[in-house]
Amino acid sequence: MMRIVIKVGTSTLAYASGRLNIRRVEALCKVLSDLKNSGHEIILVSSGAIAMGTGKLNLREKPADIPTKQAAAAVGQCELMYVYDKLFSDYNHTVAQLLMTGDDFHSEERHRNFNNTMTRLLEMDVLPVINENDTVATEECGVGDNDTLSALVAVSVKADLLVLLSDIEGLYTADPRCDPAAELIAEVRELTPEIMRLAGDAGTTLGTGGMKTKLQAAKLCVNAGCDMVISNGENPERLYDIIEGKCEGTRFYSNNSIIHNG
Ligand code: GLU
Repeated sequence: MMRIVIKVGTSTLAYASGRLNIRRVEALCKVLSDLKNSGHEIILVSSGAIAMGTGKLNLREKPADIPTKQAAAAVGQCELMYVYDKLFSDYNHTVAQLLMTGDDFHSEERHRNFNNTMTRLLEMDVLPVINENDTVATEECGVGDNDTLSALVAVSVKADLLVLLSDIEGLYTADPRCDPAAELIAEVRELTPEIMRLAGDAGTTLGTGGMKTKLQAAKLCVNAGCDMVISNGENPERLYDIIEGKCEGTRFYSNNSIIHNG
């Protein structure tokens, strides 16, 4: 049985309007509940607070200024937890909310408190739901993105596997949005400079599309002995195959990989 961190991106959880993608979130909670029932320890890192706040406050678009973004996150985080609490309760699972900033990982004391709380929650069979504490996080003290946050969490709790569910299939040899010859890379056994360069420079579509933070997350994970998978969150049922080591996206193997498939 594995300790698994699942990160879901905003595009998986919400429509462009910021309103909840009910079918998707219901499917996700069902699969995660089932995986928990089968004996795995599940930790969810969920984005979506700003998007849900944008939807709930009927803002025309995602706010650009920091105070409005933080206000939207404060509203959206409640909505997010309300939905998770409701859906996981249907399957008899209890959720806990943990809101983190970068400082919490840098300060030895706060990091220890986080680990102690996580250990106790997992012992109590609770499903922790983690997000950045967007209302207080700034560029200086924040983690900045949930790909990195989920990798920090996975490393802290010594997870076996981190799965990043996103709106892309995985890592490609080129940007699939503009290069039809781009091919999906199913397995990465070493994070060579060539692989790291596939994230693109900041400013390219691929780089701003989030591959940069995903590859940085992969580096944190594999260096700490945790496998990582990037996969499309469209169909949460894919998680069953991913956990069995079947490729459904791009898998980054650590030296301690618990999946031996060749
Ligand atoms: N914490 C942000 C939110 O909940 C998302 C950050 C991210 O997706 O990287 O809206």
